Amino acid sequence: MAEVNLVVDVNLEEMAKQVQAARDIIDDVSALLEDAARSVVIEVVNATTCKLLYVGRNVSHGTFEVLPGTVIEPFSPNVFGARSSSGAVGTGTEGIVRYAMDDVGTEFRVRWDNPFSGGNEAQAFIEGPNKDLYSYSHMITGGNKKVPARFVVGEKALLRDPESAWITCDRCKALFYAPGGSQGACPPTKHTDTISVSSDDGTYIFVTGDVWDPHQPKGWILGVPYGQYALHRSEGWRRCQNCKMLYWDGELNNGRGVCPSGFLNSNHAHAAEGQAYLLPYDVKTAPGLQNDWRFCEKCFVLFFEPHDVDNSCAAGGKHRPTAHKFQINIV
Ligand SMILES: [Zn+2]
Ligand SMILES: [Zn+2]
Ligand SMILES: [Zn+2]
Repeated sequence: MAEVNLVVDVNLEEMAKQVQAARDIIDDVSALLEDAARSVVIEVVNATTCKLLYVGRNVSHGTFEVLPGTVIEPFSPNVFGARSSSGAVGTGTEGIVRYAMDDVGTEFRVRWDNPFSGGNEAQAFIEGPNKDLYSYSHMITGGNKKVPARFVVGEKALLRDPESAWITCDRCKALFYAPGGSQGACPPTKHTDTISVSSDDGTYIFVTGDVWDPHQPKGWILGVPYGQYALHRSEGWRRCQNCKMLYWDGELNNGRGVCPSGFLNSNHAHAAEGQAYLLPYDVKTAPGLQNDWRFCEKCFVLFFEPHDVDNSCAAGGKHRPTAHKFQINIV
């Protein structure tokens, strides 16, 4: 479990860097806190695919100079400011802001404490039924005035495949697993050939039939999201041991797809190997994620729709996408 937690933290920080608030927004809030004896500039980074809806606060010391936003959109930050009350002597600022993450009661909460005397503190919490789907972090510095506090919430299901050996095929535009370069069976290369196979009695016989060349890797190494079930996550994605493409290992319209692979797989069935993946679908594009990946309802593989070419589908012709847009990691 320790290894998994390490990956969560690295991923969360990577994503938070791309979502963090612009310097001038933080400076604007800081400037308004000039007069207070104690003040905190609070940045809440939403690195998830869901909206954070402000649901409440409990400010036990001080007040807000800049109120928290009512909605933090997916992959967006919000910056607000808290301060000691003017005229108050011997108190700082301390409070909690609560955000709803879904409609079943899961909440993200951030807490800061900049007391009149003593060290500063920050904490983040997730409470509620879906709390295990998320990861979070918090930080606060020392000091009395304009103390930066930062809270980040991320989604475990956005973690990428740590093997990261996926790449697009230059010919058929599908995503395939290529740890050593060319692998699998590429649909447009279908041709007839004669090969020798060993028969049951140990002798070799020659057989003529359809064969496919391996895919041609080109471009970036890509990652496939895995993790836990969450909203807008599609289950059942696997790597095919025959064609090496990422495909959906399920049944639709009484079919299970079409695998382009040769002699020993005459019913053209995909066969799962390796781990299962959960792909985000129909959500706003996150930093580091690429949209426009589609599921082909004829062959069941994932393909990059803008580059779909004729003869790229193992069932013949072009792929036929369903309505959903899937995402994979590009960094
Ligand atoms: Zn290919
Ligand atoms: Zn296959
Ligand atoms: Zn297809």
